[in-house]
Amino acid sequence: MEWAIATDWAARVDKYVTTIPDAPVIVECDQCGAELHEGDEAVTYDGLVLCSDECLVRYLRDCAAVDYMVIGE
Ligand SMILES: [Zn+2]
Repeated sequence: MEWAIATDWAARVDKYVTTIPDAPVIVECDQCGAELHEGDEAVTYDGLVLCSDECLVRYLRDCAAVDYMVIGE
């Protein structure tokens, strides 16, 4: 009998854990579309919300006048 109670409890915990919804998405990264939730850290630039420094760099490379050169040529 005790065993039945224990498995019932475990099943309930299991169901509870698997049915907790994810934190709501507050905003998406303007560069890669990653979902950002409450408490996540983000980078803002020129009114955009970006999920990481990498996305900031990608945005600047795509949208700003960033050029590449070889030093000395
Ligand atoms: Zn991103």
